[in-house]
Amino acid sequence: MSSRTEPSFRESVDLMFNRAVSLMDLPPGLEEKIRVCNATYTVRFGVRLRGAMHTFTGYRSVHSEHMEPVKGGIRYATGVNQDEVEALAALMTYKCALVEAPFGGSKGGLCIDPREYDEHELELITRRFAYELAKRDLINPSQNVPAPDMGTGEREMAWIADQYARMNTTDINAKACVTGKPLNAGGISGRVEATGRGVQYALREFFRYEEDKAAAGLSGKLEGKRIIVQGLGNVGYHAAKFLSEEDGALITGIIERDGGLYSADGLDVEAVRNWIVKHDGVAGYPDAQFVEDGALLLEEECDVLIPAALEAVINLSNAERVKAPLIIEAANGPVTAGADEILRKKGTVIIPDMYANAGGVTVSYFEWVKNLSHIRFGRMQRRQEEARHQLVIDELQRLDDVMGDTWSMSPHFKEKYLRGADELELVRSGLDDTMRVAYQSMREVWHSRDDVTDLRTAAYLVSIDKVAKSYHAKGL
Ligand code: GLU
Repeated sequence: MSSRTEPSFRESVDLMFNRAVSLMDLPPGLEEKIRVCNATYTVRFGVRLRGAMHTFTGYRSVHSEHMEPVKGGIRYATGVNQDEVEALAALMTYKCALVEAPFGGSKGGLCIDPREYDEHELELITRRFAYELAKRDLINPSQNVPAPDMGTGEREMAWIADQYARMNTTDINAKACVTGKPLNAGGISGRVEATGRGVQYALREFFRYEEDKAAAGLSGKLEGKRIIVQGLGNVGYHAAKFLSEEDGALITGIIERDGGLYSADGLDVEAVRNWIVKHDGVAGYPDAQFVEDGALLLEEECDVLIPAALEAVINLSNAERVKAPLIIEAANGPVTAGADEILRKKGTVIIPDMYANAGGVTVSYFEWVKNLSHIRFGRMQRRQEEARHQLVIDELQRLDDVMGDTWSMSPHFKEKYLRGADELELVRSGLDDTMRVAYQSMREVWHSRDDVTDLRTAAYLVSIDKVAKSYHAKGL
């Protein structure tokens, strides 16, 4: 155990920001302007529940308005506080800049344990919170667009969208006031899986570069790599599911609130998820070794560690013992600034949060565009694309007939080639492209500058540069 004290989450983000900014040549004063949160609104509101008035505390923090609307999720958790919301809002600014989602950064939170309330109560609470934020333009399609985060999902976003629409009956773009909505309430295909999908695309991109793998002491493909995931919520579940089912990785460990599961042969992610839903935890799951102190699995031997739950889980107290050569931060801020330093010295490669979990806001961006354009992606071109492909197939078919046994189309080529892309395919393609391009921008800085030895600093450099340029373009 180190005698050093751990900074708060916001201080931790600031420390990492400072480290990067010290390598830049920004105009005087701009560094401070970018670092600080512009405003944080605290609201305390009452809701009558179970025959009594209950008071709730919520926040919406706006970190940077260099682009509007500002964007970022709303979290429901008992640990929510101003420091956390501000740290998360800052990360949103850098995240959006890095993946070129045209937004400033924001984040909201409500101090509440959602499991303590039934659905109707949660609806009353959410609508009241949304009302408080919307009347101050802290929910607004052109100024501030929330999304799901820990403890919230499609259901809450639908309530928020409806609440905003009730308060703004003539706003034709009302649906764009929030993203992460269900499909039937103006959502987009692929938003629920987006953050986990983004983690998969990020890892795939990392594994395309020999030099990057070598930096982590890894080689070969994702197939067969041993992965430990902390948190089987929306993000962890989708990342683990896709990586195991589609890339052949082995999910050797899963850490949940009540403990961890370990299996050297790989866990069945779907089965574990079903078990958790049924039993409210992983304890008792039959096909694995149960580890009561789940956090110990963070220190277990593996190839890739995916913290996909809370912030600060890898900190001064355990960083030294973390053996994974590669960490991909699916959660926001899972590694503290102090732990980051320890891991860097050890040679651990960290794919940083602002990049690794940017899949969510990327698909949120697509949803917002869909809402503003009032048309589903692919609706105009899909059948036209299919008709053009049909022409090619007809020609190939003619060849096939003429050539007899010497040449024929590969099995299933026809069906695969004929099918025009639907919304889900387009969303995945846009997300894949975003994750690849953003990774390339980071790795270029990582490998081209001697003073940049890690991906996090590279990520900050790329994103701060973009924010600075946008201030510059405004004449500031
Ligand atoms: N809450 C998610 C995040 O931290 C998504 C934000 C969004 O879609 O606006 O990135």
